[in-house]
Amino acid sequence: MLTPIPEVERSTRRVVHHKGEHLVFSREQISRLFWRKIQKAAGGCWEWQAAKSRNGYGVLVLSRRSLYSHRVSYEIHKGQIPAGLHIDHLCQNKSCCNPDHLEAVTSRENTMRSPIAPAALNAVKTHCPHGHEYTPENTVVIKGGRGRSCRTCRRWHERRTEAKRKGLPLPATPDEGSERPYAKKENTR
Ligand SMILES: [Zn+2]
Ligand SMILES: [Zn+2]
Repeated sequence: MLTPIPEVERSTRRVVHHKGEHLVFSREQISRLFWRKIQKAAGGCWEWQAAKSRNGYGVLVLSRRSLYSHRVSYEIHKGQIPAGLHIDHLCQNKSCCNPDHLEAVTSRENTMRSPIAPAALNAVKTHCPHGHEYTPENTVVIKGGRGRSCRTCRRWHERRTEAKRKGLPLPATPDEGSERPYAKKENTR
């Protein structure tokens, strides 16, 4: 027997996107597959109580597709996740599904926000490995925003290359003679 979908049911259907597919959640499925597995915690997190992936994210199954519960939550509450964006947990709690704690970001932003990510650690470093401060004047930004390099140390490498070419003694440290790296030492007497 076919019963028409009531208007209220139809309006509460939600589309979730998964690897280029559109999966439709009915109101009943949202309740059974999502809400019944959520427990709201004191800190505001919506803890996922059911299956989790190996990396700690909540997982639910719809139409034999395994979906991350936080991504489902984002899409049923906030709408489609823009292509290419990742969902960042502002609360750093991977099993949390509270849409207020979720934000769609680029992969790079996501990495930078993780307090233990190498890229984030590099970004907060204030000095190069030789102890030169990354001031605006002393910082060379590597093409494509892939990192930074110390100008003083770059000059040192250039001076070493130059000295090697001329058969002169190599400057041993970045700070040796770094005042005027390109000055000619002719008029010293
Ligand atoms: Zn949270
Ligand atoms: Zn340096």
